Amino acid sequence: MSKIYVLGAGAPRDANIPLTNEIIPRILKENPNIHEEPLRISTISLHILVDYLKEIAGNEYLSPLDIEDLLSITYFPLVLKELTRWDDNKISNFRRHLIWGILFEIEKALNNNRNQYTYQFFTKMIDEKDSIISLNYDLLFEKFLIEKFGTINYNLDLELLSESGMKDEYTYSDFNFIKLHGSMNLFYCDCCHKFTLMNYPNAMVSEDPNLHIGNIKIACPEDDEGNLIAVIIPPGGEKSEVAPILRPCWEKAFNLLKVADDIFFIGISFRENDIWLRFLFQSSICMNKNVKLHYITNKISDDKRDKIISLFQNKSIEFIEDGFAGWISKYYGLGRFY
Ligand SMILES: [Zn+2]
Repeated sequence: MSKIYVLGAGAPRDANIPLTNEIIPRILKENPNIHEEPLRISTISLHILVDYLKEIAGNEYLSPLDIEDLLSITYFPLVLKELTRWDDNKISNFRRHLIWGILFEIEKALNNNRNQYTYQFFTKMIDEKDSIISLNYDLLFEKFLIEKFGTINYNLDLELLSESGMKDEYTYSDFNFIKLHGSMNLFYCDCCHKFTLMNYPNAMVSEDPNLHIGNIKIACPEDDEGNLIAVIIPPGGEKSEVAPILRPCWEKAFNLLKVADDIFFIGISFRENDIWLRFLFQSSICMNKNVKLHYITNKISDDKRDKIISLFQNKSIEFIEDGFAGWISKYYGLGRFY
């Protein structure tokens, strides 16, 4: 019996990690240097784009604004150029600042994480023939899984991955841990075009009080030059130059979903703009004759329930209204974790 756990933005919620719509307000609020160069560019731009997105999408839909929507727009330079009159260089800088902003907020949350034990317990109960598909960038689960299995398999394109860094920990393992939208420990060099897996906290720990999202520079271990940036690919970024590294993991996810016995969706909303994601799950699961689906999330409105039922027509779906920690404790018959 093989199980797949699909972790959406709501899955690491009980470990304090912010949702995608909570990150922009935090970036704007927590950067005291917003009036100084070079951050000034990105912060003013953030405001311009936040206003613009609200205008085109409506306040109701984008209130509060989702960081992935904003990042997606950076992969559509036509719109950005019209709005801001920026050149390609500024657009790529803006994307860089935005990605560092996201990672800073996630890293801060992970450092303040009070509830890791729920997640550690979950990883202890996982079998090697089970798999995880995650839509998140954070590294909450990896630490415990590597402790348990020694290595896990991100299913990245090994031709593109450099030999430096932590390649061995994340390849050649029977345990599949698939991150469809990238990961904060996977970096791309815009100089040699190689990808490197690095331990994010080690790369980022710095005593420098002036370090902020506008001035981070991590040199590439391959050529000692370049300026590494984490591979974070939002919906709409599928055509970007960094997307090919993830191609094998999408294929692996498809093949696993076709044959799994049970699929647990945890804290995932299948947002309208993520058409590739919906297509991946819908097409593979429709080919899977005997699969049982379990949909776990904090609140399930009638609308949401109808949406999920119509996405996976004719499949048996169990709806469970709970958060990650609550579900885990009930699923394994435990008391509350906290
Ligand atoms: Zn390089």
